[in-house]
Amino acid sequence: METIESAGYNVYFETGLAPLSELIQSGKYSQVFVFVDSNTLESCLPVFQSMLDGFSAFDLIETDPGEENKNIDFCIGIWKTLLDFEADRKCLMINLGGGVVTDMGGFVASTYKRGIDFVNIPTTLLSQVDASVGGKTGIDIDNVKNMVGTFALPQAVFIESAFLGSLPKRELLSGFAEMVKHGLIADAEYYKALKESDYEAVNIKDIHHSIAIKNKVVTTDPQEKGLRKILNFGHTIGHAVETYSLKHDKNPLTHGEAIAIGMVCEGYLSKLSNNLTAAELEDISSYITAIYPAYRIKPESHSALLDLMKSDKKNENGQIMFSLLREIGQCDFNCQVSEEQVKESLEYYNGLPS
Ligand code: NAD
Repeated sequence: METIESAGYNVYFETGLAPLSELIQSGKYSQVFVFVDSNTLESCLPVFQSMLDGFSAFDLIETDPGEENKNIDFCIGIWKTLLDFEADRKCLMINLGGGVVTDMGGFVASTYKRGIDFVNIPTTLLSQVDASVGGKTGIDIDNVKNMVGTFALPQAVFIESAFLGSLPKRELLSGFAEMVKHGLIADAEYYKALKESDYEAVNIKDIHHSIAIKNKVVTTDPQEKGLRKILNFGHTIGHAVETYSLKHDKNPLTHGEAIAIGMVCEGYLSKLSNNLTAAELEDISSYITAIYPAYRIKPESHSALLDLMKSDKKNENGQIMFSLLREIGQCDFNCQVSEEQVKESLEYYNGLPS
């Protein structure tokens, strides 16, 4: 499958990590670190080593899994571990995991001694189609999403479907939300094809297509000055719901589940203020509620959710900014809506049949 060229690095597909093997053997690196969480240590490290023919000349850095651990305390632990290993600026960090590992590993690597090389080997569908590509790294502060981070490019990204073999279904569905988003913002035909497919049987061709859509946007606008904001469709409300759920729910929403809710709400806002038709909104809402579990947004959470939206990075002059659909397959950015309309969109989601 064709390699995707991004700004300054390649995204390789199903190579069995051969280009990584070459990179390691190039002699460029003083030390190699593999960064995992406890789940990818168990499920993905053996696959990684089998692809690299038993390669073991690395030091392992392990973190606890989950969004609640994507924070500065864990970064300090990782920086200290690198110091304990006497890692210099010529070492390589291999991030082997989901979006939490690639976001946090990329952040740690891009700041350790002012920056060391890193590669991403995403092991969830979500990190394959989204988090590992595009050069954004980040961590949460008090559960508020991605409040500190860097733009930093990996040396390469490796997409290997073998890693998805151990992924729980709920995590597959989570990643599928970002694929649906890619269709909604940029490719109506792709959205239609996804609707007719089964997320459990997601294939490498669609993963490639999703990455190609994201890559086209991020190479046009790497620093998110404009167009790149369309990738945030569903995320202004979705991130707020995700943070709220992390703080209040025993079994918090996954990133993709929260984004699915965000896409329905922001679909509603797109109809209110950006010409999305009622039929298109109905199409999006019925599809998303059919495949994602129902979640109740309590009216008493509205003001907390709005406060969270006010800390969104896209905001300008204190105004919450949205990326909204003009039609399925077309998205605009820097759209403003009122707080009342945002609340109405949350009520709309809540009132949908599940
Ligand atoms: P995650 O990294 O928490 O992974 C989900 C769960 O799956 C974790 O428990 C993990 O340990 C486990 N796991 C990972 N790979 C596995 C495998 N192959 N087999 C079994 N278990 C496995 O979460 P995620 O959904 O991959 O990523 C979400 C994160 O990505 C969020 O923090 C989000 O903000 C971030 N994100 C970043 C960008 C970006 O552009 N940087 C884009 C989208 C999302």
